[in-house]
Amino acid sequence: MCLFCKIAAKQIPAKVVFEDADLIAFHDINPGAPTHILVIPKQHLESLNEAAPEHAALLANLLLATRRAAESAGIAQTGYRVVANTGAQAGQSVFHLHFHVLGGRAMAWPPG
Ligand code: 5GP
Ligand code: ZN
Repeated sequence: MCLFCKIAAKQIPAKVVFEDADLIAFHDINPGAPTHILVIPKQHLESLNEAAPEHAALLANLLLATRRAAESAGIAQTGYRVVANTGAQAGQSVFHLHFHVLGGRAMAWPPG
């Protein structure tokens, strides 16, 4: 079982923000911003590269959950960034699909 599957299964503890039957939002262990929440599907998908049309509803719910995470952290109005690093060159280090929700400080563009 991969690291994030273990978090979803509560085999590894995490600071959970919210969850439902299909997804879970929790704080990143090594935050890159004052708010840094990860939103993952409970189902194991390696990355966006494995996402198929059958996952359309799940993907929509994940995206809506990123907004909910930003709202719960109080950064929805000031601004936040949603990121899905996809593949090693893009910086993906955990190969279980996840959306980063980053905020609470000014963000530079383009990202490094
Ligand atoms: P990636 O680099 O794949 O885009 O993002 C993986 C993220 O998972 C990183 O920001 C990293 O800090 C976070 N992370 C890695 N291991 C753990 C863990 O055990 N618990 C939590 N909460 N976050 C983790
Ligand atoms: Zn997994």
